Amino acid sequence: MTTGINIVWFERDLRLDDNPALSYAIGQGNILPIYIFDDHNTGEHQLGGASRWWLHFSLQSLNESLSDKLNFYRGDPEQILTDLCSRHQVDGIYWNRRYEPWQISRDQKIKQQLLSHDINSKSFNGSVLNEPWTILKQDDSPYKIFTPYYRQAVIKSTHSQPLPQPKFANNLIADNKAVNLTSLSLLPKINWDSSFYEHWTPGEIGAVKKLREFLQNGLDHYQEGRDFPAKDSISKLSPHLHFGEISPRQIMEYLRVVPDSNNREHFIRELHWREFSYYLLFHWPTLPQDNLKHNFDFFPWQNKPEWLTRWQQGKTGYPLIDAGMRELWTTGFMHNRVRMITASFLVKNLLTDWRHGANWFLDCLVDADLASNSASWQWVAGCGTDAAPYFRIFNPTTQGIKFDRDGEYTKRFLPELKDLPNKYLFQPWQAPAEILAAANITLGEEYPRPIVDIKESRENALAAYEMAKQTSLIQ
Ligand code: FAD
Repeated sequence: MTTGINIVWFERDLRLDDNPALSYAIGQGNILPIYIFDDHNTGEHQLGGASRWWLHFSLQSLNESLSDKLNFYRGDPEQILTDLCSRHQVDGIYWNRRYEPWQISRDQKIKQQLLSHDINSKSFNGSVLNEPWTILKQDDSPYKIFTPYYRQAVIKSTHSQPLPQPKFANNLIADNKAVNLTSLSLLPKINWDSSFYEHWTPGEIGAVKKLREFLQNGLDHYQEGRDFPAKDSISKLSPHLHFGEISPRQIMEYLRVVPDSNNREHFIRELHWREFSYYLLFHWPTLPQDNLKHNFDFFPWQNKPEWLTRWQQGKTGYPLIDAGMRELWTTGFMHNRVRMITASFLVKNLLTDWRHGANWFLDCLVDADLASNSASWQWVAGCGTDAAPYFRIFNPTTQGIKFDRDGEYTKRFLPELKDLPNKYLFQPWQAPAEILAAANITLGEEYPRPIVDIKESRENALAAYEMAKQTSLIQ
């Protein structure tokens, strides 16, 4: 036990349970728990509006768990830590590792800086089952394809048991230069978040509650149910995982006592898609901005601003797309199947560069995650390492009929279509005039006409792809 203070730097690990940095620091003596809102090093990866909303309440919850002793700062962590070290006798600084490229270079620099001032620093794995450099091919190169990666991850997985919540004995310190949570200005100035409150409970307690509910009500039909957006078969743990309110180790521990089944295995596989996204981002740090398949560098995107706006606002005239985009706007979330369909529509039918869609998602999702979002957009667009083939273009009408047959999901987010018979729900432009009139719909007024023709836009997409392929061959 030392006499100085030990700083625990929280960032994507906003929990007390299974928090290796916190548990380690507790064993060292007095603790100064800090959170730094870093808007200095993020570059173009500034936190989106929905994420800021989540972060505010997640920090509030962590602060409550720390008896109001979480010290908040805003700015450049390097400067803030240097200042803390000059004002306190700091014995060590501890954190759980983060994996976004800008965080890695920032944290490496800080480690060097601390070392040069003889201040002990130590980082831990608190966010993934397997850190990206631990799973490699026989020739030490990284995997590009999910399935062999997953097989290897399952064989090699040596993750430890989750750590218990540490006990505090009046050893939490407050710093008088810290600011309060409100001065981080995370909440929106205009009121677009009103319906978020009924959907989410950010924080560690909310995360465990969500997991328990899922294990009780969702897991038993996860494999089949996860394709149907109206069903309650998914965990909705993604924002809790992103902010580290629960760790994948804790989830695996809960799953340990669940009988083996296809549902259980499928869920574990999905957790590994998250791991694989972190893996790809670590080994290909330009994942958020560069096509991993370079023939896409020659893709003739049309990038029509009006089309992008109509997609963002859920006014494309294709009900399943519009329901998904409105779900995103009103709840900060979108079901995975609908994410795939809306993303495919933007990139393929509207020939809009996937990076525009990815940015919109990052701004609107409460689970916005640079790794998972970039990897998923590259996957849908066809330019990722392990991508869906480009010619796989979802048809929003047939997808609607298949996965939302009775229209429950679509009508939930598009109440203007509530009286339209299901036969026409996914293609209102086919409905006879009297049916539209009976449903109080005038196309182009209450609900838009289709933004593009599906068949024609599909052919355009395939032709554009051929052109990109040919151009890349002659470059
Ligand atoms: P569940 O089905 O309950 O799965 C459990 C957990 O596994 C999730 O919480 C998540 O952490 C992980 N997971 C599941 N599917 C995936 C996947 N395909 N890729 C990576 N991890 C996965 N996920 C994000 O967390 N943040 C994003 O910004 C994000 N952007 C996406 C963008 C597009 C275009 C697409 C197609 C997918 C995106 N995903 C993203 C992946 C996936 O849609 C969400 O993780 C999932 O919908 C979250 O819901 P859930 O927690 O109920 O998932």
